[in-house]
Amino acid sequence: MALEYDVVVLGGGTGGYVTAIRASQLGLKVAIVEQGKLGGTCLHNGCIPSKALLRSAEVFKQTKEAEQFGILTENTSLNFVKVQERKEGIINQLHKGVQGLMKKGKIDVFEGFGRILGPSIFSPTAGTISVERNDGEENTIIIPKNVIIATGSKPKSLPGLELDGQYVMSSDHALHMEELPESILIVGGGVIGIEWASMLADFGVDVTVVEYMDRILPTEDEDVAKEAQKLLKKKGIHFVTGAKVMPDSLQKEGNIEIQAELNGENKTFSADRMLVSVGRTPNVEQIGLENTDIEVENGAIKTNQFYQTKESHIYAIGDVIGGMQLAHVASHEGIVAIEHIANEEPLPINYDHVSSCIYSNPEMASVGLTEQHAKDQGYNVKVGKFPFQAVGKALVHGESDGFVKVIADEETEDLLGMHMIGPHVTDMISEAGLAQVLDATPWEIAHSIHPHPTLSEVIGEAALAVEGKQIHG
Ligand code: NAD
Repeated sequence: MALEYDVVVLGGGTGGYVTAIRASQLGLKVAIVEQGKLGGTCLHNGCIPSKALLRSAEVFKQTKEAEQFGILTENTSLNFVKVQERKEGIINQLHKGVQGLMKKGKIDVFEGFGRILGPSIFSPTAGTISVERNDGEENTIIIPKNVIIATGSKPKSLPGLELDGQYVMSSDHALHMEELPESILIVGGGVIGIEWASMLADFGVDVTVVEYMDRILPTEDEDVAKEAQKLLKKKGIHFVTGAKVMPDSLQKEGNIEIQAELNGENKTFSADRMLVSVGRTPNVEQIGLENTDIEVENGAIKTNQFYQTKESHIYAIGDVIGGMQLAHVASHEGIVAIEHIANEEPLPINYDHVSSCIYSNPEMASVGLTEQHAKDQGYNVKVGKFPFQAVGKALVHGESDGFVKVIADEETEDLLGMHMIGPHVTDMISEAGLAQVLDATPWEIAHSIHPHPTLSEVIGEAALAVEGKQIHG
């Protein structure tokens, strides 16, 4: 039986289901095809579970250090089974929420693997979807006017390095660990590597991070990455940078042993487990792209600024198109795509206005250009920096490491970027994001009076520091 829709969304992750909700709000007849669970990577294997574990790690560490607040706790110990149960509880609650939203929006959900067919008896253009159903029943054929590919990404490994899920794990595997190892080697000091390093160190695991580049977090502002390495080192994490891991040298016998080339010499690393966090690769395989004219470049689907592929009625959004692989980016790309389909004339996304966050302890957050990127683009920059140490609320909070750095254009005074490391910065970055959207100057940011005492005062002071006019420093 063939079914007809205005839009079919391939993939029910954050990008896909948000797109379907907006489609329904716009009065379109919409369906989602999802092979796993609604909510996708973010809800089941990414943002939400990792943040739940990070929060448990934070509470564990804080409880052990509660004496500084005058609270005596003895024999603090960890029940990792309960930690995992709490994580699963949060996922289940949110999963039910997403299922409820689908019902509310009258969005049909097809459980199975969707493949795009070429021109056929069903349609003269490519885009009919054949769903290989999870229940083993005959394939369902869906004929949509438009398709949105939102199939996401999966963890990458190094060539020749098999992720066995037990000794050599991806972040997907690590989320389901039943017990913590005593030691772990993390290959890749990017966002995932650093969040896991921080979490596991706070849980008491001996962590070593091996990074190929000459510093961790190579895409972050250099000052922030340096501060992060310093603060994470303080909690006992070992960092090895400029190291090229050699997959062929891997040995697994009760623990793992692997060599990396470091300053022209081979160095051996051993640990109970290994986590590989060297990036994620778009899910472009087996979804029928070969039946279409859709172009793939560097492993990602190529689109225009409204997310149309070479087949103008087939769109692609989120991790599958590469770029900023973030859940909030995927959902906004989906909204732009569906509004374009509905002739709502959406504005293209300005990626310099997108905030990104790292949920380690300390947290990091940023929007816009780093100092180096701004200079590389030819800007003469003015920089203001202000430490949490001089903010009363940070001392009250018991977390006063870190700073906010504001980068402005010397000629126009415009804000070019803001970079933060310290307590609750992932909840504070949206002020900088709004300032970017409104094209604000640091002067305007500082003249939005920040309440006292709050952590956000650090933003006002950092904005004033661009002109050397900070009050408390
Ligand atoms: P990443 O690109 O952020 O970092 C990968 C790191 O691995 C880089 O530092 C890179 O230099 C290093 N690397 C590459 N090859 C290596 C090698 N052979 N040996 C040692 N190091 C090597 O990728 P990721 O951390 O895996 O994250 C994947 C994606 O998921 C990113 O786009 C990230 O933004 C996203 N993500 C975001 C969040 C968040 O928003 N908080 C959380 C998790 C993941």
